[in-house]
Amino acid sequence: MAAFDYDLFVIGGGSGGVRSARLAAGLGKKVAIAEEYRYGGTCVIRGCVPKKLFVYASQYGEHLEDAAGFGWTVGESSFDWTRLIEAKDREIDRLEGIYRRNLEGAGAELLESRAELVDAHTIRLVKTDTTVTAERIVIATGGTANPHASLPGSEFCITSNEAFHLESLPKSILIAGGGYIAVEFANIFHGMGVETTLIYRGREILSRFDADMRHGLHKAMEAKGIRIIVTDMIEEVTQSPAGGLTARTKQGATLVADQIMLALGRDPHTHGLGLEKAGVEVNERGAVIVDAYSRTSVPHIFALGDVTDRVQLTPVAIHEAMCFIETEYRNNPTAPDHELIATAVFSQPEIGTVGLTEEDAAKRFDEIEVYRAEFRPMKATLSGRAEKMIMKLIVNASDRKVVGAHVLGHDAGEMAQLLGISLKAGVTKDDFDRTMAVHPTAAEELVTMYKPSYRVRHGQRIDG
Ligand code: NDP
Repeated sequence: MAAFDYDLFVIGGGSGGVRSARLAAGLGKKVAIAEEYRYGGTCVIRGCVPKKLFVYASQYGEHLEDAAGFGWTVGESSFDWTRLIEAKDREIDRLEGIYRRNLEGAGAELLESRAELVDAHTIRLVKTDTTVTAERIVIATGGTANPHASLPGSEFCITSNEAFHLESLPKSILIAGGGYIAVEFANIFHGMGVETTLIYRGREILSRFDADMRHGLHKAMEAKGIRIIVTDMIEEVTQSPAGGLTARTKQGATLVADQIMLALGRDPHTHGLGLEKAGVEVNERGAVIVDAYSRTSVPHIFALGDVTDRVQLTPVAIHEAMCFIETEYRNNPTAPDHELIATAVFSQPEIGTVGLTEEDAAKRFDEIEVYRAEFRPMKATLSGRAEKMIMKLIVNASDRKVVGAHVLGHDAGEMAQLLGISLKAGVTKDDFDRTMAVHPTAAEELVTMYKPSYRVRHGQRIDG
């Protein structure tokens, strides 16, 4: 008789959990996976996927305007939020179905229940109040939007969770935060015709990105009509007697909007999970502490994805899951590689980026070369839209390695994926120079910036 009910029990049916359960089951292991909400997790159900669908939806207004420059006469147009939500929900249902079928097809048992640890090998299924045991356990419960409960009036505000299901499109919205979610949703709502204001506590949005990307996007968003308030934050939210909400800010401003959305980061989802009963240690943010192999303080319990607060990105969670499988079930110890992760902000224009910012590279290397181009993309010539693309390569002067690549503009996310491969392979600037351009594209600029725009030596900028 087996000592445990399962070889592997996975808590959480998101990107990391599903991948580890599916692969382990495919290797013939007896696997169960528990999910309290919907399979697919944040990314599929209320994150990356519906967000990208909203991004597409929000771009049609500009497409219709741009069409005139190419000879089209477009009739009267209007946008129907309810129809978009219905279509988005249908697509999310379809994707959830695929996730479920893939798990079942691999032989994993799907449990529709919250699961909590009782001890280091025992899990309680809350729905049925039963317990099961497992030889190994994976915690992949992801993160939750920080509700910012200490903010007076935060109960009147929404987070990205609710933004995907608003009954009607607000006329105006105030979004707090300057990270991925705040910036992406500011562009989404603006594109759908909502009067949009973004308020951020720092000097410039997107604090961890290259300064040119940050300033360039800020300017582009303002030029579209998005109001951006920096070095200020909401201190209190109240309901206005006439309907809508009023925010009072630290700098003394009063901002009125139909909806206020808080996008102030995401917290690891570990509350009430019974980690202490199993002896699993967490840090001060509640994130599960893991070693290089995603192993927690309990040797047979692992944690993957956002719940560990390493890098909160879907592909990272999936990669960590695959490394876990290699390590534990294929006898091939593999630590996840968190270097040079390409990423995109689906703002409008997009940011695509991989590697070091100019600022970080200048601190790390004695001398860097910066190749920078700012230009009007071809599509904007006939459309007449005033928009610029910015491309930037950061090169370590001593070995010519490209250590950072940053793009602001159309399809920057698609470019970042390919740049990511090159940088991962250790590409040098000379490799870029001997690569033939694909013409006419915007991306060709990446291989035709022959002379550095400037250098930074020991932190000092040297022109030419
Ligand atoms: P981010 O960490 O990107 O941004 C959080 C923002 O909130 C920052 O601007 C931060 O300011 C600000 N902030 C934090 N605490 C406070 C506070 N107490 N008062 C005022 N401002 C505050 O988180 P998001 O919520 O935008 O996104 C969560 C994660 O989800 C991201 O880290 C990202 O990894 C992932 N994501 C990825 C996407 C993609 O790949 N395209 C899209 C959406 C999300 P400061 O900068 O000053 O710290």
